[in-house]
Amino acid sequence: MSVLKGYSGRGLRVNPSDEEISKETLDSKVLKKYLGGAGLGTKILFDELESGIDPLAGENKLIFLTGPLNGTLMPLAKGHIVVSKSPLSGTVCKSSSGGLFGAEMKSAGFDYIILEGKSETPVYLLVSSNGVEIKDAQYLWGKTTHETEDLIKNREQGNLQRAGERDVCVSSIGPAGENLVRFACIINEKHNAAGRGGLGAVMGSKKVKAIAVRGRKDIPIANVNRLVKLREEMLDKMKDSSFGEGFSKFGTTDTVPVANIHGIYPTRNFQEGVFEPFEDFDPKEIVDKYAIRDKSCFGCPIHCNKVVKLTNNSGETITDRQEYETFFALGGNCGNSDIEKVILSGDKCNRLGVDTISMGVTISFAFELAQKGILNKNIDGLKMEWGNTESISFLIEKIAYRDGFGDLLADGSARAAEQLGKRAEKYAMTVKNMEIAGYDPRGAKGIGLTYAVASRGACHKFAYTLKEEMWTGKVDRFTEKGKAELVKNLSDINSLLHSAIICTFPMDQSAFGLEEIKRGLKHVTGWNFTEKSLLRVGERTVNLQRLFNIREGFTYEDDTLPERFLKEPLKDGPAKGKTVDLDKMLSEYYKLRGWNAKGEPKKGKLNELNIS
Ligand code: SF4
Repeated sequence: MSVLKGYSGRGLRVNPSDEEISKETLDSKVLKKYLGGAGLGTKILFDELESGIDPLAGENKLIFLTGPLNGTLMPLAKGHIVVSKSPLSGTVCKSSSGGLFGAEMKSAGFDYIILEGKSETPVYLLVSSNGVEIKDAQYLWGKTTHETEDLIKNREQGNLQRAGERDVCVSSIGPAGENLVRFACIINEKHNAAGRGGLGAVMGSKKVKAIAVRGRKDIPIANVNRLVKLREEMLDKMKDSSFGEGFSKFGTTDTVPVANIHGIYPTRNFQEGVFEPFEDFDPKEIVDKYAIRDKSCFGCPIHCNKVVKLTNNSGETITDRQEYETFFALGGNCGNSDIEKVILSGDKCNRLGVDTISMGVTISFAFELAQKGILNKNIDGLKMEWGNTESISFLIEKIAYRDGFGDLLADGSARAAEQLGKRAEKYAMTVKNMEIAGYDPRGAKGIGLTYAVASRGACHKFAYTLKEEMWTGKVDRFTEKGKAELVKNLSDINSLLHSAIICTFPMDQSAFGLEEIKRGLKHVTGWNFTEKSLLRVGERTVNLQRLFNIREGFTYEDDTLPERFLKEPLKDGPAKGKTVDLDKMLSEYYKLRGWNAKGEPKKGKLNELNIS
């Protein structure tokens, strides 16, 4: 049997309820069609899951995946992907994360780890080149993600050092995952989140507190010399591009002033598109004032991640990953202009293990309900008012621990609205129950279509149209025309990148393209892809995700946007007077995809993509 290049060649399946551990061999035919990551995870979930199961039941599966590129010398081949049925949206959900976990998992000998069943008591998994163990985690239950990582490292360090290995890499859940908060996330290396869709709650439902991995196996590579040459070329190209220059200085925080200037920075629960206190927002000030060092994902020369230090009355906080999405969700969208408090709230979310986007948008939903008189202005002793940083901080805790009013919000804004009635659903800014990300689609129509059709709910990463609509301005952001094609093309590319597993940021910013991915895959796996066949991998994954969701009962009626974007024009700013005409874009999108008028893939399309 020939050795698979670019893969460890094995998957791991663990059922903690009966302590069953099995190893399986990867099938090269399936890998050529789906590569790994999002594609392979979707394929496994589609084949193995019964439709209609409760995402928090033992029948659901939680799959951690790497891809052929990550853990190799290919630059930016970062992180890993987690796939499951989402307890927030009920759709298939892939969540990507940076950090070293994926590379370690692969060199520990596994391209994927599938968790199934449910343990009676809390456990964690130790996966190393020495073997796989299910270990007691009762002493970790209730701990934050940071505490969990430190405790596991302390315990395992001695064992691994004796076996000649270095420290473990830990992915864990915090109290939010244990308490089945529907937007709980999974954190690795304290600051990298598989953030969206509540996959931390799936892990919590299985009572798996953490997975610790440590590997030392080399991954076989088809042509190392050519890969090294490609690496050098790509690094030179990135150094000379505006991406290398700007992104390495500020990461994604420089999106705050750009989105604000374009009038699409979500403000006070998407009521406005310009947040006045951030009109002078300068990402350089954050770096100058708080950054103490740069940090990068595995094999990435960009170092877009800034480690920052804050000192205040309660002591010193060192944290990293200052992301635009956190600055919108816990900043302007909650009416909060206190930058230090935004950073601290983001850090609190990471420690408690909860998605900052859904958290911020759910809190802003509650604030707007109080503004509109649907909720009291004072709940559980907290003032429900815009920009009240004390309330924001306490609400994060109350939600993570399902305490009092937090219990209602812990199921997400759409479910909370259903419980509350009184037209509250009008203010839940969600698609398929997932809270909307950081761009108001009234001022960038393409991102509106992205939110409506993204496989996991309102996800901006499905097709990041903002490069064309905002950063370069290559297309008219106010028109619906041409956006269906843009979203289709970008979503195929993004699905491919999340399957090969390589950071999407440089592609979003034109620092490299499909040509480099094609050559990278050739040098790593030895397989000859054309640009067309690569895009087919992405397209196949998007179609399989669609089939999964249809099987779960989703229809074209779920491809929609909150009423606010469709009927309520923005009152001020550069996007003043705009709404989204979604129907026009949707029918064009379905046609381009080869789907019928109800958004279902036609037989001919499935045959063409060889989906069986
Ligand atoms: S650009 Fe940033 S997010 Fe992407 S791989 Fe590099 S350090 Fe990680």
